[in-house]
Amino acid sequence: MSQRFDAIIVGAGQAGPSLAQRLSAAGRTVALIERKLMGGTCVNTGCIPTKAMVASAYVAHTARRAAEYGVGTGESAVDLAQVWKRTRGISERSRSNVENWVAGMPGVTLIRGHASFESPRSMRVGEQLIEAERIFINVGGRAVEPDFPGVHSVPYLTNVGVMDLQELPEHLLIVGGSYIGLEFGQMFRRFGSKVSIVERSPRLLPREDPEVSAAVMEILQREGIELHLGAECIELQGTAGDVCVIAECAEPRMAVHGTHLLLAVGRRPNTDDLGLDRAGVETDEHGYIVVDDQCRSSVEGIWAMGDCNGRGAFTHTSYNDYEIVAANVLDNELRRITDRIPAYALYIDPPLARIGLTEAEALQRGYEVQVGVRPMTRVGRAIERGETLGFMKVIVDAQSERLLGAAILGASGDEAIHCLLDTMYADAPYRTVTHAVHIHPTVAELLPTTLQDLHPVTARKTPAS
Ligand SMILES: Cc1cc2nc3c(=O)[nH]c(=O)nc-3n(C[C@H](O)[C@H](O)[C@H](O)COP(=O)(O)OP(=O)(O)OC[C@H]3O[C@@H](n4cnc5c(N)ncnc54)[C@H](O)[C@@H]3O)c2cc1C
Repeated sequence: MSQRFDAIIVGAGQAGPSLAQRLSAAGRTVALIERKLMGGTCVNTGCIPTKAMVASAYVAHTARRAAEYGVGTGESAVDLAQVWKRTRGISERSRSNVENWVAGMPGVTLIRGHASFESPRSMRVGEQLIEAERIFINVGGRAVEPDFPGVHSVPYLTNVGVMDLQELPEHLLIVGGSYIGLEFGQMFRRFGSKVSIVERSPRLLPREDPEVSAAVMEILQREGIELHLGAECIELQGTAGDVCVIAECAEPRMAVHGTHLLLAVGRRPNTDDLGLDRAGVETDEHGYIVVDDQCRSSVEGIWAMGDCNGRGAFTHTSYNDYEIVAANVLDNELRRITDRIPAYALYIDPPLARIGLTEAEALQRGYEVQVGVRPMTRVGRAIERGETLGFMKVIVDAQSERLLGAAILGASGDEAIHCLLDTMYADAPYRTVTHAVHIHPTVAELLPTTLQDLHPVTARKTPAS
């Protein structure tokens, strides 16, 4: 016997519970299926716990610098078990908020277990068969297990295990110099570990403009993080407590030794065990569910939201997918993925916030590019806070006078950048910002000044270090 619902939602990540709530409010019956932890990656093993740990790392770093500010703190030491306890507390409160929220939704049945398709309109969870005319997939992703030689014999951590360490690694080796690897790298360095990062590309964050990569590299190196870039032939060796990453193809092959190994080499979608073939749902060569601009899959009545559709890799993009689906399905309002402006942050300290196009992308697309750059050493608020690393950079199309993108690598850059992002959403000329009067003293108050000092890209100033 199967059980019928108006809708099935698979995965209680960043889109599923919100959509369940909207469907519930519209009087629909919903089966929400979750195989593990309510709230998904962000709440349990992603954004929330990492940012809680980044906050602890920031306090440790600032405490070490306390004397510069005229403050005596005595000896400062990091208690990783306490960091873990605080982090888990924050994450668990967030998860239980989601649990309570879902429990209070009329018409929504939470089913615990792994769901897979039986047909385009039915799914199996253990012994239970459930059916619905509409199925919404929000299954997220997980860490990639790379095919490096030695990966099956050498003990390694992913983002999940590294957050559960309660004793400080003496020397943490990280393979992967992108967002996740860099955040954990700086955090553990500040906790007191020796940290080495091995990255295949010749520079960190290869999709960012070169001066952004260079400035991030300098920030990490000045804290004593060892970087090995351009490591093309990575091989893993060793046993628990004594691991080794071989990072060079040519003999003699350079080897980096440490006590713990974190692999942070990308994410893959949780679509391989969903039985998508039984529903006829198309995926791309990486396993992402192919969707149109409204998150509709190749099969009518099946949608995919969040990381599993490959159209975003962030909490805010997953949530926006929910908004797009809800608008189209429930409100008859046309909302599209392509209306979204790329926006994200890397939470090292200082953070790197990025919106829109990089300079290289803007040039490649044929825009008449103008750039404004201002080092954080010329931002009053940063000087007062004693946090002057980094720079802000704005990219403008000279023809249309529209902002094309921006990068703020600097204190509070992740907040300040939103005044530029909203200007882009408003499709307003950049002069809207240059004529705005911002609050003093803030980091954002220097954005109008930066935009008043634009240069054609060929004559652009490089950021001061
Ligand atoms: C270390 C780390 C730090 C991050 N930091 C940030 C950040 O600062 N900012 C940011 O925006 N993003 C960050 N992210 C990314 C962010 O966490 C994800 O983009 C976001 O959680 C994706 O949400 P989602 O809704 O697509 O899926 P998820 O949140 O992953 O949820 C998917 C859910 O589906 C469940 N599920 C999967 N398959 C099945 C099945 N077959 N049956 C039943 N249930 C199933 C899973 O158990 C999971 O609960 C970070 C990620 C990591 C790993």
